Amino acid sequence: MKNDQTKIPQATAKRLPLYYRFLENLYASGKQRVSSTELSEAVKVDSATIRRDFSYFGALGKKGYGYNVNYLLSFFRKTLDQDELTKVALVGVGNLGTAFLHYNFSKNKNTQIVMAFDVDENKIGTNVGGVPVYHLKDFKEVIDSDVTVAILTVPSAAAQKIADQLVEAGIQGILNFTPARLDVPETVRVHHIDLTVELQSLVYFLKHYPV
Ligand code: ATP
Repeated sequence: MKNDQTKIPQATAKRLPLYYRFLENLYASGKQRVSSTELSEAVKVDSATIRRDFSYFGALGKKGYGYNVNYLLSFFRKTLDQDELTKVALVGVGNLGTAFLHYNFSKNKNTQIVMAFDVDENKIGTNVGGVPVYHLKDFKEVIDSDVTVAILTVPSAAAQKIADQLVEAGIQGILNFTPARLDVPETVRVHHIDLTVELQSLVYFLKHYPV
């Protein structure tokens, strides 16, 4: 399966979690098949792209039938390693960090924030949403060896220094919610989500490209 995965283009791979979440909901509601048009409307990806994406998984939709939801789900589960629990660390237990700790991806049983870090003495030693908060200076000592992903919700001025520390401790993936552009070794993957930019971009598109 790992070998198959390398053949999937990155753009397709990025859409997998989107498809996966929608299909899980479909499955939960008892639907056994779905057409590319239905999927397209739900996930806002054009149906030609969906058909091309799915052809990489060997899922060829049948005309008038669509795709088998169960087949797709089991494929995605394997490809996204959804059979395994991915443990995640969070750094920065401020407003956004606290919200994530309470949310903790509870609808997705396969990713979970298991430890949090901060430098504020008032937060260290507490539990937020059931997740223990440690001092960042102890990151390397307390981090579980199977935690390879970290969410960064710290002030942007602190982000690079913290990223260096995380990388040094063996973190391989960072979900960066700060506006800072992070400089990391090539072996580390950073996904950047700047909520302010996303919101401004939406407002811009609404104004200039009305639907
Ligand atoms: P709050 O209202 O709790 O301060 P906030 O989201 O408005 O939250 P920010 O200034 O963005 O506050 O900081 C987010 C969190 O990051 C805070 O909990 C803060 O203590 C923590 N933080 C600040 N600097 C660092 C650092 N160098 N390392 C780790 N955490 C830090």
